[in-house]
Amino acid sequence: MADLRFNGIGMTSARTRDRLVQRLREQGICSLAVLDRIRNVPRHIFVDEALGSRAYEDTALPIGFGQTISQPYIVARMSEALLEGGPLESVLEVGTGCGYQTAVLAPLVGRIYTIERIGALLERARERLKELGIRNVKFQHGDGAAGWKSQAPFGGILVAAAPLALPEALLKQLEVGGRMIVPVGQEGRQELMRFTRREQGIARESLGRVAFVPLLGGKG
Ligand code: SAH
Repeated sequence: MADLRFNGIGMTSARTRDRLVQRLREQGICSLAVLDRIRNVPRHIFVDEALGSRAYEDTALPIGFGQTISQPYIVARMSEALLEGGPLESVLEVGTGCGYQTAVLAPLVGRIYTIERIGALLERARERLKELGIRNVKFQHGDGAAGWKSQAPFGGILVAAAPLALPEALLKQLEVGGRMIVPVGQEGRQELMRFTRREQGIARESLGRVAFVPLLGGKG
């Protein structure tokens, strides 16, 4: 049963997923490891059954609580941007959402520490990752803007909701050589940024315009 559910049929089948992967390649995603995860992670189990047939469209979809599952292109782009620069032992993810981004990244890194402010979303994500046999993820219900001090520093930090300005507390938890991928700015005019901690100072690059939900304070 589980196999059938994960493999999918019709609009959730391997052929439909291959078309999505092809599209992401055409849009410039070149990491084979990331494309392979997009092909293999059953995105349809992360959304409501009623939306399952749209799970392999390259679009964000609602997951309840006013939140969305990120667009596959964005998940692929953020993962690729994070992985460039060498293997990652430990990654902090802020904004677990439904856990799709977590599932894509988990086998490509040593361990993920993921924080979500909405408890119900976090619990659902935890269940789905367990179903998929993903075991290298630690979950926390809380405000991810403060990071996860007891586990810092991290080789990678991935932020899935947009702060208005550069999140200093998170930058502090980045190890030397570590990189943080984060959308920064007001709703409707955000820029996806990569910050890399060097021995001296922080390097910053823009990865282009994006649209994310805002990073909010406190628990939901
Ligand atoms: N990549 C996720 C999408 C997450 S949407 C996925 O694939 O599903 C962004 C998530 O960030 C939302 O679930 C929202 O509740 C969460 N969020 C917003 N502000 C936060 C904060 N300060 N700390 C932790 N999570 C936060």
